[in-house]
Amino acid sequence: DATVRRIAAGEVVERPASVVKELIENSLDADASRVTVVVEGGGTESVRVRDDGVGMTAADLERAVEEHTTSKISSGDDLEAVGTLGFRGEALHTIGAVSRLTIRSRPRSGGRGHELAIEGGDVGEVQPSGCPPGTVVEVEDLFYNTPARKKFLKTETTEFDHVNRVVTQYALANPDVATTLEHDGREVFSTEGNGDLESTILAVYGREVASSMVGVGEGSTIPPEGGEAAGADPDAAPVASVSGLVSHPETTRAGREYLSTFVNGRYVTASVLREAVLDAYGGQLASDRYPFAVLFVEVPPDAVDVNVHPRKMEVRFDEESAVADAVRTAIREALLDEGL
Ligand code: ADP
Ligand code: MG
Repeated sequence: DATVRRIAAGEVVERPASVVKELIENSLDADASRVTVVVEGGGTESVRVRDDGVGMTAADLERAVEEHTTSKISSGDDLEAVGTLGFRGEALHTIGAVSRLTIRSRPRSGGRGHELAIEGGDVGEVQPSGCPPGTVVEVEDLFYNTPARKKFLKTETTEFDHVNRVVTQYALANPDVATTLEHDGREVFSTEGNGDLESTILAVYGREVASSMVGVGEGSTIPPEGGEAAGADPDAAPVASVSGLVSHPETTRAGREYLSTFVNGRYVTASVLREAVLDAYGGQLASDRYPFAVLFVEVPPDAVDVNVHPRKMEVRFDEESAVADAVRTAIREALLDEGL
């Protein structure tokens, strides 16, 4: 019933940033090349995500908001599942239970646009809508019908910080997607979507940071733990390959949120990765300072466990120390190349 639905929703939709995350993932899954996120009041008043992806027909729209429906197939050990874990086919349905949700969509392949509204779980009728190809999802008054949940929201500034972090991570992970963030009528950043990581970093972090970044080796790979001497299969796939950009040791911040790691394209947090990055600087960092880093770590999908904590984006690796070595070595080499 509606109460159960609302309680369940509170556990998975924690704050505006969780809504933003789910909507961006849907846009990326829909093959968007442009994603625009517009929030008001830190996201507590409204969140709007527009994309130029494949879009939906009227029938797709109806299906999209049903419980446990998904047009996507995902397997448990697929890293794709990280973002939607515990949420498979549930995001729109769940968000619609605790907000006023409107979806407008028009298939990119042709056909007319439609819209569908849900208010506190009450699903309206699909109506024709004059919208451009792609999809716009608008979420207003999050938790308006769950006061206990709403009470846990922080100030608009804090909620916006969380939103900003989420959009930033997706923008960095997808340099080929033009990503724009607006808050209370002001543009916060806008990436070009030209596929270039450096210009993406320039757009989100600014010139000072962008000009201090050092390229980390394409395909720095190391063999699986043990190596040939230990009788490991010499043809086995490497444990990890590492690429991306890290900052000069003097360009740092007090917070660790500028140290971004992506495993197989998905944003993750893992203390083993963070410590490997810090290690690579070998005491060159001032205490309690963190470098900027945007690092892509590729591992075989079966070498990583994404089920540690669905909401917090934590992962664990089968061969932790080998992955740490790969990260540390790649960054160390990049810094040495620059004489650092
Ligand atoms: P999931 O993403 O796990 O499938 P959601 O509730 O997030 O579940 O979305 C339900 C369905 O709605 C998706 O499977 C997809 O078919 C459709 N959908 C949602 N957002 C979009 C979008 N931005 N563009 C196209 N289709 C979408
Ligand atoms: Mg989804």
